[in-house]
Amino acid sequence: MTAVDHNLLGDSQIPLPAVDDHVIDLRPVPFVDLSLEHDLIRDALDGAVRSVVEKGDFILGEAVHRFEEAFARYCEADQAVGVDSGFSALELILRGLDIGPGDEVIVPANTFVATAAAVESCGARPVIVDMDPATYNIDPDRVAAAVGPRTRAIIPVHLYGQPAEMDRIAAVAARHGLAVIEDACQAHGARYRGARTGSLATAAAFSFYPSKNLGAFGDGGAVVTNDRALADRIRSLRNLGSTRKYHHSERGFNRRLDTLHAAVLEVKLGVLDASNQSRREAAHLYEHLLGPTPLVLPVTLDHGDHVFHLYVVQVEDRSSLQAYLHDEGVATGIHYPVPIHLQEGYRSLGYGPGDFPVTEAAAARILSLPMFGRMPPSAVIRTSQAILSYFGI
Ligand SMILES: *Cc1c(COP(=O)(O)O)cnc(C)c1O
Repeated sequence: MTAVDHNLLGDSQIPLPAVDDHVIDLRPVPFVDLSLEHDLIRDALDGAVRSVVEKGDFILGEAVHRFEEAFARYCEADQAVGVDSGFSALELILRGLDIGPGDEVIVPANTFVATAAAVESCGARPVIVDMDPATYNIDPDRVAAAVGPRTRAIIPVHLYGQPAEMDRIAAVAARHGLAVIEDACQAHGARYRGARTGSLATAAAFSFYPSKNLGAFGDGGAVVTNDRALADRIRSLRNLGSTRKYHHSERGFNRRLDTLHAAVLEVKLGVLDASNQSRREAAHLYEHLLGPTPLVLPVTLDHGDHVFHLYVVQVEDRSSLQAYLHDEGVATGIHYPVPIHLQEGYRSLGYGPGDFPVTEAAAARILSLPMFGRMPPSAVIRTSQAILSYFGI
């Protein structure tokens, strides 16, 4: 049991932590802890796994189809196709749109490497664009400038859980006849001008990596789209080009979502909105408590409904704060320390230091604070107290 210091909250309008949260004492504070969420739905998860084992339909079983329908409905879209990762979701969308060698696809400089890796994997070339300094998302003005004769698609990433500037990106795409592919791997359940991620473009890629807002018990992903023909093509591509057993209308891959994961995801989808709400509340509390510090806090645009996959701040002397927090028992992360264009594996793209200065400047200053579904307010307070004491506040 821990005594939560309510004095820190001052006379704010923020509701005090619910009584139950007081008994959850995360010491040290982990960067992510999935067990709090899983404890709430333990019986349902156990039941879901048991029913798949009893049924034995491990490959493209009933739960896959049920989850696909439920996830499409959740995203307010027509179709969802379960695949084995977010990377595969991106790659299969590109292949489903016949994007390949000779084509260019615009991606942001500040993202997880998978966004660009998927483009390369289908033989196309990722063209990197710098980020907006306030939101960390791809800068729509620079997107327009990066379009060339070989450009086929734009992949905006809803980074850290906040939707990208989709209207402005859609306008550029319409002008040049390009596809727009949402990388929604960090933004399950977020909304942009009222509409869910997954319903905002040609197609969207989701990852169910365990620590994502909606996570499986291993790797998983989904393509979401309103384009029935594209969904059917991707259903075939994920299953070795097969639409009927042992008949292959084209060459494909083995990129299926396992039935076990789908059964787990079906249960977790039922509590995703509540989980995202708990992330927003944690972010709100951070914002209040960290206000007096020199940290640059996340900017939330009013067009969107941020789901705070990550809570990213900027600080001048990052390594010193990070070491201090480590000693205080608070785990942190950096998303991402090396932009794609400076990664060794991407040297052949021909970019170098200075090419994307906004991303490079941020990469040296960003720090991700602990954030996860059902994060107890006591853990937000403990983290914030450590930061305040670092600054001598
Ligand atoms: C996690 C993630 C991916 C890739 O997802 P995997 O399931 O790990 O392949 C792609 N893009 C972004 C922005 C991500 O955060």
